[in-house]
Amino acid sequence: MPELPEVETTRRGIEPAVRGQVIRSILVREPRLRWRVPRELPEEAAGQRLRELRRRAKYLLFDLERGTMILHLGMSGSLRLVAPGTHPGKHDHFDLAIGEKVLRLRDPRRFGAVLWTTQPPEEHALIRHLGVEPLSQALNAARLHALTRASRVRIKPFLMDGRRIVGVGNIYASESLFLAGVDPRKAAGRLSAPQSERLSTAIKRTLRTAIRAGGSSLRDFVGSDGAQGYFQRRAWVYDREGQPCRRCGTAIKRIVQGQRATYFCPSCQR
Ligand SMILES: [Zn+2]
Repeated sequence: MPELPEVETTRRGIEPAVRGQVIRSILVREPRLRWRVPRELPEEAAGQRLRELRRRAKYLLFDLERGTMILHLGMSGSLRLVAPGTHPGKHDHFDLAIGEKVLRLRDPRRFGAVLWTTQPPEEHALIRHLGVEPLSQALNAARLHALTRASRVRIKPFLMDGRRIVGVGNIYASESLFLAGVDPRKAAGRLSAPQSERLSTAIKRTLRTAIRAGGSSLRDFVGSDGAQGYFQRRAWVYDREGQPCRRCGTAIKRIVQGQRATYFCPSCQR
């Protein structure tokens, strides 16, 4: 599944080709994605200039002059820029012809989404309740400390709850907690101020590392696997059960929290 770093890599990859360009047309080959692609979208969007391509959590927001197209890659979606006239594959459900290019959505499992709103996208039902954006200044030591107060959830599942902080998937939660030296079993509400400081920094660092790794192989095909990119940088703890900690040599432990595997070093993380 595309994670936040992959979506950000995608955004950065396509932005130069689409920003400021005019949408020539939209072709919907298969409207039955997670939700039906709005019938009015092609007519509404055609002829409008794309002012900004933003990301909020894992949603890409295509800000046009009068409205916003909201796109989510779902479980298996990917976007790429192709030349006009490029023959579509079986799972190429959506084409946005813009500027000199065609932005094509491929989504074999069809859990992705293409939606349209003329309201501020921040107020859209899917976006309104999303948590803090981890790479923005909104996430800092004080905010993380405040968010965790009164929570009895363990810190690892807490980090993965998108109503609090968005985009910290399973790999990134384990890796961030290792970098911050925080035990994943600790109650979120007991996180100290210095731990909050280290953890907010670690989350940003982990996600930025993944984005950089995902971006390195980028050409016109966008949608490389953020996690794979991350692993080219080698993980500190993720998927390393029984192997020696890269810092202290202690065997990495694996536990299950909220049905998800958590990896940590029992010596470095307290
Ligand atoms: Zn260690």
